[in-house]
Amino acid sequence: MAAAFSVLEASARILSGIRALPVESVALRDALGRVLAADVVSPIEHPPWDNSSMDGYAVRAADVASTTLPVSLPVLETIAAGQRPTKRVEPGTASRIMTGAPMPEGADSVIRVEDTDAGATRVEIRDARDAGRNVRPRGEDLQIGALAVAHGEVLGPAQIGVLASVGAARIDVHRRPRIAVLSSGDELVDVDQFDAVRRGDRIVSSNSYTLVASARELGADVVDLGIVADDPAAYTRKIQSALECDLLITSGGVSVGAFDFTKDVLRSLGADLQLWRVRMRPGAPLGFGMLGSMPWLGLPGNPVSALVTFELFGRPLIRTLRGERSVFRRTIEVRTRDDITLAAPLTHFMRAIVDWDSDGVWATLTGPQGSGLLTSMALANALLVVPPDRISVRAGESLRALLLGERAIAAGSLDV
Ligand code: AMP
Ligand code: MG
Repeated sequence: MAAAFSVLEASARILSGIRALPVESVALRDALGRVLAADVVSPIEHPPWDNSSMDGYAVRAADVASTTLPVSLPVLETIAAGQRPTKRVEPGTASRIMTGAPMPEGADSVIRVEDTDAGATRVEIRDARDAGRNVRPRGEDLQIGALAVAHGEVLGPAQIGVLASVGAARIDVHRRPRIAVLSSGDELVDVDQFDAVRRGDRIVSSNSYTLVASARELGADVVDLGIVADDPAAYTRKIQSALECDLLITSGGVSVGAFDFTKDVLRSLGADLQLWRVRMRPGAPLGFGMLGSMPWLGLPGNPVSALVTFELFGRPLIRTLRGERSVFRRTIEVRTRDDITLAAPLTHFMRAIVDWDSDGVWATLTGPQGSGLLTSMALANALLVVPPDRISVRAGESLRALLLGERAIAAGSLDV
């Protein structure tokens, strides 16, 4: 087995063999959160006609700009959204028009109704500020053949709306990953055996919950393999039941303890083991390999280590399977509010709360950083990244922070 990898080397190694999953067709209404597999171009011009952006009167600019206002014009017709105009607006005439309705020929402006007397057969126009305005040209949003949504985009409400506008009732997306999650350890029970925890005999397998949730959050179909004891035969059977999956994520048993069998089991099943340790904390023991065509990611058992390594390696791997164009979380520059002294020249990922004030962006550690302290992860909205050459950092110095999703940006009040 090769020596320990840096974080970047490990990331590159893990992702190098991962490809987007095959394509399937889904109805647009079922496409939320899926990843588009092929560019969708517009077969139409959108909007399909020059239309009014105001409720008002379609006129010729020359009739309202040069004249001394107010001016009174005969109203030819009323054009509602969904109707077609039947009359050409000749010099000295107007048509009443609603927002979204097609512009009548001859008109080049819509005078908002507030600047008129709102007349039905004749209209008095009192202000010329809308001369030459309030017409949305045909094809302003999309031209025929224009890219509507690009492949690799995650489909959220806006993308789905654009696809609807161009008639993409069914779309090609990448298949959802099927991900097996397995936790190992003799000390573990599920929450329904909490009596054993109260007696002081066992702990709950929180990794089963955090990792299943992490995979589901990314739209995966999870095969929850539960808990397996530190027993190679049982471990082997569990893994054999997962061979049809797109990814196997295990936690625990990847360290150097006397009962850390994960590596042996995978090797005996013929896995091509590609990395075993990463120069980081938490999370130094980290396994990755290919079991036939199925990637295996072996996360450490400590609950924080499991989640931090999932963030760094698991999330981009799953996003690659999903076919996403951008697979990494964003990092931003922050200043630390804490003095930090570290014991080893490793890349450290410290649980932190990032916030903003008029002096800039700050990171405050959530407290003690032990890799078993899952509550520190539950409080954090970012991982403060301390590179191996910065084992002593003073408060006020700059570092990078990896933002952990919505928690990093949600605010307690509307701040616009
Ligand atoms: P291991 O990686 O198996 O050596 O486990 C390291 C530490 O993480 C030990 O304290 C374990 O009890 C703990 N641990 C392992 N697996 C889990 C799990 N699924 N849920 C919570 N804690 C775990
Ligand atoms: Mg263990």
